[in-house]
Amino acid sequence: MTYSSMLIHESHRKSSMWSKFRCKNSWIVLFLINAFVIQSILYYKEICKWDEIKQEIDIIMGNERITHTLAHSVLKRLHRIITGVDKDKLNLDENSGVIYAITPTFVRPVQKAELTRLSQTFMHIPNFHWIVVEDAPLETPLVTKLLADSDLTYTQLAAQTPKNYKLGRTDPNWKKPRGVEQRNAALRWIRDNLKTSDKGVVFFADDDNTYSIKLFNEMLKVKKVGVWPVGLVGGLMVEKPICDNATNKVLGFNSVWKPDRPFPVDMAGFAIGLNLLLENRDAWFSYEVQGGYQESAILQQLITKDQLEPLADCCTKVYVWHTRTEPPLLNAEQMLIKKGKRSNAGIEV
Ligand code: UDP
Ligand code: MN
Repeated sequence: MTYSSMLIHESHRKSSMWSKFRCKNSWIVLFLINAFVIQSILYYKEICKWDEIKQEIDIIMGNERITHTLAHSVLKRLHRIITGVDKDKLNLDENSGVIYAITPTFVRPVQKAELTRLSQTFMHIPNFHWIVVEDAPLETPLVTKLLADSDLTYTQLAAQTPKNYKLGRTDPNWKKPRGVEQRNAALRWIRDNLKTSDKGVVFFADDDNTYSIKLFNEMLKVKKVGVWPVGLVGGLMVEKPICDNATNKVLGFNSVWKPDRPFPVDMAGFAIGLNLLLENRDAWFSYEVQGGYQESAILQQLITKDQLEPLADCCTKVYVWHTRTEPPLLNAEQMLIKKGKRSNAGIEV
């Protein structure tokens, strides 16, 4: 055998070995791929099964949570009743008299939000009658619907503020009195529709204030005029009558803003017995008084300072806040309106 034929023979031998090896290995590769695919399918099936189980667990947990929350609130309520914490609340029955709230309100972007918050607080109060007076020539559909949907007992009125007394868009709040026309319209309705044999109390609930339902237990104690602290008003955290613990009498007031007012209290800080309003049929709010004197004007026609009845634990508790809602920025909406594409077309906001 020549050297070259030896080489050829050697290369033939190598290539046949290689092809044998490749053939054998391709079976291994095929087997591995197969195993991988089967494994993947099994794994995928496992994941699907696990997802189903997870969904079922979520449903069970959700139901569990609802049951738990319900049980918790029932237990809490029972505990309050048994320990007497709810005693005052339970006193609000048919014999307690009616709480009349007078709310002036006017059209603006936040109106529905304000009235929704207020109505949902009032829905907690039994024997409640809401007198809503719109600063408008006629009742508006938004307020009509809101009241009808509310489950509250209510009276809807409209009394427009005369043009010369209406605040301009950029006027500061103190420039003109607000709510005079509306509160007087409500007083007129009360005097025209209720009798001295009716039991009740009347208070002024501006549509932007915030109320704790605890305030309403206090109101039912009012004989002539009850007073209590108001949070976030008159430049103070709390503006309040100063109450003498020993005698439960009002000694003075802590007011800093116009402290010389005959009754330096906010509109949210008092309630008037229904009878007192019916006996004094000429007591009204007035446009002819200085800024900040509306409360004093009406109270002076009804009572003297020494007759005030301090409430809310001798005026140590805050159950109402003179909150004010910032007007929302609607610049993007203005642009849409110009293009005739307002965001709330067909939607009441
Ligand atoms: N109000 C009204 N017409 C107006 C401005 C105000 O009927 O042009 C209402 C308002 O909705 C609120 C009450 O009058 O229920 C008192 O107004 P506001 O809350 O602005 O007064 P403040 O917070 O300064 O006491
Ligand atoms: Mn207000």
